[in-house]
Amino acid sequence: MFNKKNILNFTFEELEKEIISDNEPKYRAEQIFSKIHRDNVNSFSEITNIPVLLRKKINELYHIPELRIIKITDSGHSITKKFLFEIVDENSKSDNFIETVLISEDDRNTICISTQIGCNAGCEFCATGKMGFRKNLEAGEIISQVYQVKKLTGIMPTNIVFMGMGEPFLNYDNLLKSLKILTHYRGSGIPSKRITVSTVGFKGKIRKFADDLTSDENKSIRRIKLALSLHSTDNGFRESIMPVSGKYKLSEIYKEISYFYQKTKNKITYEYIYFEGLNDTDDDVKRLGKVTRMVPSNLNVIPFHPIDFELKRPLDIYNSKKDINKLLSNKKLFDFIARLKNIKTVVNLRSSSGIDINAACGQLALKSNKNNLH
Ligand code: SF4
Repeated sequence: MFNKKNILNFTFEELEKEIISDNEPKYRAEQIFSKIHRDNVNSFSEITNIPVLLRKKINELYHIPELRIIKITDSGHSITKKFLFEIVDENSKSDNFIETVLISEDDRNTICISTQIGCNAGCEFCATGKMGFRKNLEAGEIISQVYQVKKLTGIMPTNIVFMGMGEPFLNYDNLLKSLKILTHYRGSGIPSKRITVSTVGFKGKIRKFADDLTSDENKSIRRIKLALSLHSTDNGFRESIMPVSGKYKLSEIYKEISYFYQKTKNKITYEYIYFEGLNDTDDDVKRLGKVTRMVPSNLNVIPFHPIDFELKRPLDIYNSKKDINKLLSNKKLFDFIARLKNIKTVVNLRSSSGIDINAACGQLALKSNKNNLH
């Protein structure tokens, strides 16, 4: 099976080329793509609207791999589920696991998906960063998280956020491919305005993303939103908690953000983890007010979510502050938000859903792998 090509990795246009090169009529690609990405069939034998001979032929050349579910953990406080999947492929080592989170609130079902196993950006507050980098996910492995969650829960996610394990822009080609597949009208046709891609910001990458979203051949991904993991408006402090940001000054990232907005007209979201006493001064508030007025945007303030790793300076003070309730109900956090509102910043307090199962922002680190089920 493993010398066969993974059909989930093909965009619609790529599949069409494959089919034509096999002397089949073009419309067969539409039939196959729809069955795989809309109906999420498990095998080619279920594609009954194509001739038996063609089914046999594609079965010899391709396969439809599935992420193997290892564990589903339910939050006791909210309708949040964390999924531990195992990737089964020819290079499968012992540790090819990823985590995906489904957050259900009112009529919204948001799936938070991963693009890498681990991450080498090294953000000090992030459990995934503490794992180091293990593997870039293929496009098929990224989209399979959506399909598997749908099969396991019966819920088709209404919103997708690329905020799980990994930095999406460090796996750019597979990110772009997965976006094209998920939004294609012949497949699951998820509206692009319901998808958000989050990045810590890399010079050149935000600009390229804006160009790709607005290119004529990529109309289906045109409205995808961008979230910047900001966490500080001070280059020095930001670098101390996000080492990778040392390469690019905030002024350069802001220029790219402006470019992104001018090109796409899509609103920006800034993600800002609240670190009491470290990024909440009056100067921080003033700078945030300025940054968020640069282009239409909103600011998501996120309480710090404890992780099971030792933290280095300047976040080492949080090693002894792991009382979740105190972190979430901190009066100073609400005062910070009030000060931002006073200067007319569009600011929200981001939900900490799933914090009790290590599924909240920054907490994904395979802590429930199959050898360590809790
Ligand atoms: S916050 Fe994102 S970029 Fe930073 S280490 Fe974690 S996964 Fe990587």
